[in-house]
Amino acid sequence: TSSTTESLIAAVDAHSAHTYHPLPVVVATADGAWMTDVEGRRYLDLLAGYSALNFGHRNRRILDAAKAQLERVTLTSRAFHHDRYAAFCEQLAELCGMEMVLPMNTGTEAVETAVKTARKWGYRVKGVPAEMAKIVVATNNFHGRTTTIISFSTDPEARADFGPYTPGFEIVPYGDLTAMREAMTENTVAVLLEPIQGEAGVLVPPAGYLPTVRELTRERNVLFVADEIQSGLGRTGRTFACEHEGVVPDVYVLGKALGGGVVPVSAVVSSAAVLGVFRPGEHGSTFGGNPLACAVALEVIAMLRTGEFQARAAELGEHLHRELGLLAGTGRVTAVRGRGLWAGVDIAREYGTGREVSEKLMDRGVLVKDTLPHSLKGVGGAPTATIRIAPPLVIGKEDLDWGLAQLRGVLGM
Ligand code: PLP
Repeated sequence: TSSTTESLIAAVDAHSAHTYHPLPVVVATADGAWMTDVEGRRYLDLLAGYSALNFGHRNRRILDAAKAQLERVTLTSRAFHHDRYAAFCEQLAELCGMEMVLPMNTGTEAVETAVKTARKWGYRVKGVPAEMAKIVVATNNFHGRTTTIISFSTDPEARADFGPYTPGFEIVPYGDLTAMREAMTENTVAVLLEPIQGEAGVLVPPAGYLPTVRELTRERNVLFVADEIQSGLGRTGRTFACEHEGVVPDVYVLGKALGGGVVPVSAVVSSAAVLGVFRPGEHGSTFGGNPLACAVALEVIAMLRTGEFQARAAELGEHLHRELGLLAGTGRVTAVRGRGLWAGVDIAREYGTGREVSEKLMDRGVLVKDTLPHSLKGVGGAPTATIRIAPPLVIGKEDLDWGLAQLRGVLGM
C-alpha cells in the first residue's frame, strides 16, 4: 500500500503491458533538468523525454501559456474554429519557411499523415497510377509504431507478429546514395528520412548525403520528407538538423518538443502545393490543433524564434562533444556521434551493456537510456553498449559537467 519505488514498480509490472523496460526509478516531481523520485532522490535528466523536453521540465513560460489557455477553452474539435488556430498555423509555417500546417498529436500520427500526404500528392499532382505509389525509406529508421510505420522498419522486434504489413515502401541503406538512386522510380512519391537517426544510436549520415538526396528528389519530382520529430526544434544547435547541410526539404514532420513537454503536439508542415491536396473529410484528428496544444506550441515557437535555445544547444553541444571526444581518446568510449546537445556514445563492452551503464549512472544520480547502435541491429537483439545523451537545452553547464563526471566515474576515471 505504500508508494515506494519497489511497490509502485511491482504494481506496474502486474497491470501495465510490458512494452517498455524502464530504469527502476519512479519520478514524482521535476524542474528544469532535474527530476526527483518518490523517495526524494534527485537525478539529472540527460534524456529529456527523447527530446520532448528540450525546454526543460515545467518550463515557466510554457506552463504560464498552458495555464492561461486552461482558463479559456481547451477543446473545440475541428468542427469549429478557435482563436488560437490561425496564429499557430501561421507562425509554425513561418518558423519552417513553409506555407501550410496539418496538425496532429503524436509523432507517429504526423508520420502517418506525411505518408498519406505523399501518396495523395503522388496520385493527384504527380500523376502516379492508382495504387502504385512508392516511398523510399532508410534502414534502421524509427518513425513510430503503427502497423503501416512498422511495415517499413528493419528492427525485427518492432515488426515480429504484427503482419500483414503495408506495402508501398522501399528500404535502402541509410547513407548509401547509389542505393537511393536505384530505388527511385517514376512511381516514387517521397523519400522519408530522419536527417540524423535518433533511435539508431544518433547516427549522422555522411557529409553530402542529405544535399544529394535533395538534388535527386528535386530532379525526379519526388517529395523529400524530413522526420525532424527528434532532431528538430533546437536539439542540434539549429532549428532543424537539415540546416547543417543547407538542405530544405519539401515536408517537415515535427512532434515531441513542439508540445513543450506538456501536451502531445505534432504537425506536418509543407507548401500549399503539397498540403493543398487535402479536401474536407480526407484526414483529421479530434485533438489535432486543439486550443491547449496551439497555446503551448505558440510559446514553443516564440522561444525558438529568438534563436537563443539553438545557440545554447550549439555552444553547450560543442563542449559536450569536446568532453566526449576526450573520453574516446582513452579507449573507454569507442565512438561518439551526434550534433549539438545530442550524442550517441558507444562504450567499451568491458564496462557492461548500455543497460548496465545506464543503471550505474542512475545509481550516481544521472538518467540516460541505452539505445541500439546501427551496427548491431538485426542480429538477434544483441545487448549493446550505446547510450544516448540528450539533456534539456536549458541545462546548466555545471550540471552537464557534473553529469559527465559521473560518466567518467562509471568508466573508472
Ligand atoms: N519519428 C522519430 C524520428 C522519432 O524519434 C519518434 C519517437 O521517438 C517518432 C517518430 C514517434 O513519435 P511518437 O512517439 O510521439 O509517436
